[in-house]
Amino acid sequence: MADRMEFSSTSKRSNYGAANRVDVCVLCVYPSAVMHRVEDCIFCGIVAGSENCFKVYEDDLVVCFMDLFPLADGHTLVVTKEHFENVFEVSESALTGVAALSRRVATAIKKELNPDGLAVYQANGSAAGQTVFHYHMHLIPRREGEGFNFTSRVRGDAATLESHARKLRALL
Ligand code: AMP
Ligand code: ZN
Repeated sequence: MADRMEFSSTSKRSNYGAANRVDVCVLCVYPSAVMHRVEDCIFCGIVAGSENCFKVYEDDLVVCFMDLFPLADGHTLVVTKEHFENVFEVSESALTGVAALSRRVATAIKKELNPDGLAVYQANGSAAGQTVFHYHMHLIPRREGEGFNFTSRVRGDAATLESHARKLRALL
């Protein structure tokens, strides 16, 4: 995966629901249509252990790890273990698991990083900015006056991501 990603135009994004699109996914080398298949899903790979991540927590329903291309320092993801594409498909139990863990992790982030605020968001479909079609919640620490840029993302420093993951693990 490239160290630097450019989300240059919406036409390059994965296209929600369009099975025949062959646009290249902005996050990897997969054609966007392939990203919709469970067997090629990057988050399913993380759940299965075939893909690496900076893991914070896992239980039967959910897994939490650091976002590899953080929108802000401490950007964390809470992901269902089972593959659901979006909020319209996620089971109620998995949804509840994500919500409960999101609050626990948000509290840990608050203790560890003491941000001025914390954004919790979740995208459904490429028009809403979804790029990984496996249900997940973003937890993004925010600082007064600090913006973030969805269109140009840099891969996080491994030592920093691991350090955040270790400290958050200890607080859960
Ligand atoms: P969304 O655009 O809402 O679908 O969010 C997907 C998020 O997954 C983005 O913030 C990416 O930076 C992040 N991401 C993509 N691949 C990985 C990965 N291998 N490990 C951790 N985060 C990832
Ligand atoms: Zn998946």
